[in-house]
Order: sequence, then structure tokens, then C-alpha cells
Amino acid sequence: MDLGIRGKRALVCASSKGLGRGCAEALAEAGVDLVINARSPGPLEETAKALRDRYQVQVTAVAADITSDAGRAEVLAAAGTLDILVTNAGGPPPGLWSDWGREDFIAALDANMLTPIALMTAVMPGMAERGWGRVVNITSQSVKAPIPQLGLSNAARTGLTGYVAGTARQVAPMGVIVNNLLPGIHATDRADALDGGVAKAEGIPIEEARARRAAAIPARRYGTAAEFGAMCAYLCSQNAGFIVGQNILLDGGATNATL
Ligand code: NAP
Repeated sequence: MDLGIRGKRALVCASSKGLGRGCAEALAEAGVDLVINARSPGPLEETAKALRDRYQVQVTAVAADITSDAGRAEVLAAAGTLDILVTNAGGPPPGLWSDWGREDFIAALDANMLTPIALMTAVMPGMAERGWGRVVNITSQSVKAPIPQLGLSNAARTGLTGYVAGTARQVAPMGVIVNNLLPGIHATDRADALDGGVAKAEGIPIEEARARRAAAIPARRYGTAAEFGAMCAYLCSQNAGFIVGQNILLDGGATNATL
């Protein structure tokens, strides 16, 4: 399918690995020039080279912490004029509801709510002026149904979701289309880390922890970064202009809800 975005320019945050990389790959396949980002320069440069070699698009790599003011400024300066923004960052640590104090919540809000808001605030005025833009925020299935051990994520991402619900409808008249993508369990380093934590806590092999989680998903498997990226690229395409402020769940049916 021609997504109609060949030659556009996208910033994909936190994209040397995992879901961010899946989004970068799918956009590159659609002919989009990229600015990619992660904190560790080594894997980031490897990803940039792989994308250039495979898709013949321009890829600028900026090693910086996207959740810090300085890191965001560096990434945005290198990015220049953007048509597409995909926000993403690492998720907050797991724990119990009684574990967290004010500083833990501030860190989670900074990373998973205020960072995407700061990026949208920086980038959307230019998109609105040019009359075309696409924003996809990577959030979580925890927005639809809370995950008990991820209370920091439940809280921060729900705050972002409320902001997007109102803002998406204010920028749509200018051709700027904003939506959220909600991953369920996908096979990435993040999923390995969470499975590793369960394995350690319960004294079981990681394979058993993984198999148990997969068994609880109607699709009976984890999602892939490629599947996730394909939906992201669609939401960034010309075809997505009438999809405004939506929360698209990619979870293999795990969230047991009618709507
Ligand atoms: P991942 O495989 O661990 O990859 C994370 C990527 O983000 C890496 O490229 C990492 O590179 C980069 N990164 C992390 N923190 C960053 C920061 N502060 N600044 C810049 N880059 C950063 O994670 P993932 O599974 O793709 O998850 C992506 C997001 O989706 C997370 O917020 C996660 O909580 C959420 N999510 C994931 C799942 C899942 O099952 N995978 C489910 C629900 C929600 P560096 O470490 O080098 O910075």
C-alpha cells in the first residue's frame, strides 16, 4: 500500500530498539526521511546504518536523553522542520502501589507525560502553519485497563491521554492529526525485563514466565515490533486524516472489553 508520505521527514524518539525502531523501520519503508534517537550511541548508529542501507532514506541519529530538557533541545535542533512526530521513551519501573513517593511520580510524569507534551508543543505549530502533520504517541494498554505492578505508567500515560484527547481536536482543523498507539505485550527488551523480574520473584525460568503471559493473550503470543510499526506508519499516512484523537490498542485481544 502506498502511504503517500514518501519524502516527508519524521522524528521517531527512543528508536534504536523495540517499538520505536519498529515505527522507524515502517516509516523508512514508506520512503520517509528520519531523525532517530536513543541514549546509547552504539546501538543507535547501528540502527541508523541498517535503515539507510535497507531503505535508502536519510537517517540522522541523535544520541540524547529525550526526557531531559537538554536532550530534547539537541534532538529538536537536529530535526529541523518535521512532518511527522512519534513520541516514545522507556517505561517507568514496576512496583507496588505503596512503593512510590512524590519523586517517583515526578520522574514518571516527566518521562511519559510531560516529554511527549513538550515535543508536541515544540513541533505542532510548524505543522499547523504548513497545514499538514502527523503525531503518534506510544503509550500503553495500561491506559485502557490498569496493570497492577505498573502504577507509575498507569498514572502518567492516562494524564497524557487526557491531554491528547483535547489537543487533537484543536489542531485537526489545521491538518495536524494526533493519535495514540497502545501496545499490549510485545517481544522487546522491555518485555524481557518485566518477564525477568517475574521469573526472579517467583523462582521460575524466564521461559515459563513468558509462556504464562503469552497464554493469557487470546492471540497466544507476544506482538512484534514490525506489526506495531506498520500501524504507526498507517496513522502517519495520508489515509489517516480522519482518525483524530484515538487510542488504538494493539494487544492480541488481551484487554477484555467490548469498546
Ligand atoms: P525497549 O525495547 O526497551 O526499547 C526502548 C528504546 O528506547 C531503546 O532504543 C532505548 O535506547 C530507548 N530509550 C529508552 N529511554 C530513553 C530515553 N530516556 N531517551 C531516549 N531514548 C530512550 O522498549 P519497548 O518495549 O520498545 O517500549 C517502548 C515503550 O512502550 C516504553 O515506554 C514501554 O513502557 C512501552 N510499552 C511496551 C510494551 C511492551 O510489551 N514492549 C507494552 C506496553 C508499553 P537507550 O536505552 O539506548 O536509550
